[in-house]
Amino acid sequence: MTDDICQPDSKADNGFTRRRFLNGAALAVGTAAFPVPASAAGSAQQDSLQRTEPDVILYNGHFWTVNPRLPRAQAVAISGGRFSAVGSNEDVLGLASARTRKVDLAQKTVLPGFIDAHTHPAESGRLHLRQVDCDLRSIAAIQAALRERATKTPREQWVLGFKYDDTKTSDGRRLTLQDLDAAVPDYPVLVTHRGGHEAFANSAALKLARVDASTPNPTGGEFERDSSGHLTGRINERAIEPFNRVIPPTNTRNDYREGVKLIAKMMTKTGITSVGDALGSPEDLQAYQDARDSGDLRFRVYCFIHSSSIDRMISAGVRTGFGDEWVRVGGMKQVADGAISGRTARLSQPYVGHPNDYGTFSATEEELYEYGHKAYAAGWQLGTHANGDVAIERILNVYERLNREIPRKDPRFRIEHCTVINDSIIQRMRALNVIPTPFSTYVYYHGEKMQYYGEERLKHMFALRTFLDAGLRPTQASDYPPGEFPAMMALQSEVTRTDMTGHVWGANQRISVEEAIYVGTMNGAYASYEENLKGSIESGKLADLVVLGRDPFKEDPSTLVTIPVERTMVGGTWVYES
Ligand SMILES: [Zn+2]
Repeated sequence: MTDDICQPDSKADNGFTRRRFLNGAALAVGTAAFPVPASAAGSAQQDSLQRTEPDVILYNGHFWTVNPRLPRAQAVAISGGRFSAVGSNEDVLGLASARTRKVDLAQKTVLPGFIDAHTHPAESGRLHLRQVDCDLRSIAAIQAALRERATKTPREQWVLGFKYDDTKTSDGRRLTLQDLDAAVPDYPVLVTHRGGHEAFANSAALKLARVDASTPNPTGGEFERDSSGHLTGRINERAIEPFNRVIPPTNTRNDYREGVKLIAKMMTKTGITSVGDALGSPEDLQAYQDARDSGDLRFRVYCFIHSSSIDRMISAGVRTGFGDEWVRVGGMKQVADGAISGRTARLSQPYVGHPNDYGTFSATEEELYEYGHKAYAAGWQLGTHANGDVAIERILNVYERLNREIPRKDPRFRIEHCTVINDSIIQRMRALNVIPTPFSTYVYYHGEKMQYYGEERLKHMFALRTFLDAGLRPTQASDYPPGEFPAMMALQSEVTRTDMTGHVWGANQRISVEEAIYVGTMNGAYASYEENLKGSIESGKLADLVVLGRDPFKEDPSTLVTIPVERTMVGGTWVYES
């Protein structure tokens, strides 16, 4: 089953025969990597589906199913949260009973729900609840927002900001200690960069974290100093840890649940029906389950667990795949290097204009191996953040070694981001069938940062064309908060490779609209071993879909981002309606 999913069947036609769409039920199940519940598997399902009255029929639609055996359809029947039939209006409406709700889609385009395979939903939901959104266009505006928050902040608490982006402020420089001290002199302040790998502290924060000009840098991190040795307030990577240790935890269990509720609302509105939480904790898992119990979990979650929590999970006997189609334990996550948006990715060639700056590693090969071995031996999938080519080579060394030492069928090693590639990396990834999760919206949204990488290197970055041509299965991935998540922005960025000012970056990596949709749906399902459950509109699969205001196949690629998402359905229920 897994081998045929990325090879469109050249013999498939668009005919809507009853036999063809009813047979879809059998095609959709097969050998699942995770066992499909008995009630939904095998030929018994086909019979029961034919006998089950549909709860809902959506008709008069332009369905692009992402199922090569029946790429286009007019109608679907849904029963028990799954598609029970896909085909023509006539055939599907013929299945309706008196209690079936019929929804006329008025010729709107329908796609499978999008899967954002690498993002940080629970965490970003909490940030939106409790912190200052510093995605503002001047340092003065950021200072004003922080000052305003300080007036409402109880004593002993910190003023925290997130999504600050130095390349998007008009000042042409980074935030400084002096900026933050001037804005908020009497509370500790820590503002995190959008890239997530650096932060900016004021004097009160430095004092509480016991960091001064004489404090040595930790391994894998830096307290930045100016030419005269004074702290600038900028800290990165592991130098952020002393601050995190002294910030009092203020999020309650209820805040965790509320954060999930908020971000699920924000994401489903843009067409996302499943997310991979790329850096979850046991508390995040609890938050997703709490939100599910309260009816607020609008999307499905595949939750990666950070290596720092892996011992707790392994000793509980939990491994990748545990859970169900709503909340499932994903792989173990590690981090090999810095960020693309923060210009700290570990590269073989220096940053443009900074001849001595090659970026930073966040872990040694031995560390990556040690945790990787522990989790892999316990049955976990591995996902490792690696942006720069040197960091990617480092994690490939680890994956190749694990594959030799602990052979496993279908390991689906993932390289999170996998941004800067070369021919030898592609060969090695092919040999192990490694899954890359490149940033989907960076070219469009973070175009102004691409100058630090340069035109030539951009031909080898976010390399969807190369990945697809090599037979790999790249996913759609926002990495929100660092990147933006709307599904239509991902399509535009991947199809045009053009930023918001019209500059084209790495045109050789363009892919088609059809390919971009496949990447955002089926490939996302594959990356979490769920290709038999979701990723396409097929009988037997979960009824997750998105109804669009315009057809992306007929749209000028430069306006794909403006296509309105009118409705989003997860498990047969509308979770968003405009
Ligand atoms: Zn991430």
